[in-house]
Amino acid sequence: MIIAIDGPAAAGKGTLARAIARHLDYAYLDTGSLYRAVGHAVMKAGFPPENEAEALKVAQNLDVAAIDKEAIRTAEAGHAASVVAAMPAVRAAILDFQRHFARQKPGAVLDGRDIGTVVCPDADVKFFVTARPEIRAHRRWLELKASGSDVSEAQVLDDVRLRDQRDSERATSPLKPANDAHLLDTSDLSIEASFGEAVRIIDKSMR
Ligand code: C5P
Repeated sequence: MIIAIDGPAAAGKGTLARAIARHLDYAYLDTGSLYRAVGHAVMKAGFPPENEAEALKVAQNLDVAAIDKEAIRTAEAGHAASVVAAMPAVRAAILDFQRHFARQKPGAVLDGRDIGTVVCPDADVKFFVTARPEIRAHRRWLELKASGSDVSEAQVLDDVRLRDQRDSERATSPLKPANDAHLLDTSDLSIEASFGEAVRIIDKSMR
């Protein structure tokens, strides 16, 4: 059983995906963390994220177990992730890992931008989770603030818009809902309400 959860930055995908995985006792993969890890490692090695040769080298040698979960949550790593994620060779380098992960039993939940369209087009249940940009920026700003960042909310909103644009307009695996995805707008929904709605849809499709 594969559950694919796609959507733009800070729409609530991760929270929802983790809650579903816990509920069903499935494995969970935050695929954004793979791109963040690549972007972060490229910068740490002293290169701009636009350096394709370095990004590809990092992606091909990515040790998922060694990803520094805290270091990749910064705004810079998020920006670098969206730059390296637009490189087809980088996407190809981490595709097999994601597909292999998705095949585990009894099931897996993957969240990202192209899970339902490219990574697992045969996923059993697909969600496309969105929320208005201002709401997403506010949520991401609260997260960043809690982790000690002094970035302004306006800056975070600019970044969210830039990332939306880059993720939606890139040629390879652009962010878009799969035809058979269930749309879930979390702008005016609590985490509990989003989770309840998702579980209702999953239960129905498992019957
Ligand atoms: O989800 P998160 O914000 O952590 O993802 C960081 C960036 O990684 C996104 O803005 C996007 O550019 C890229 N990404 C992607 N495909 C995925 C997951 C993330 O292109 N499946």
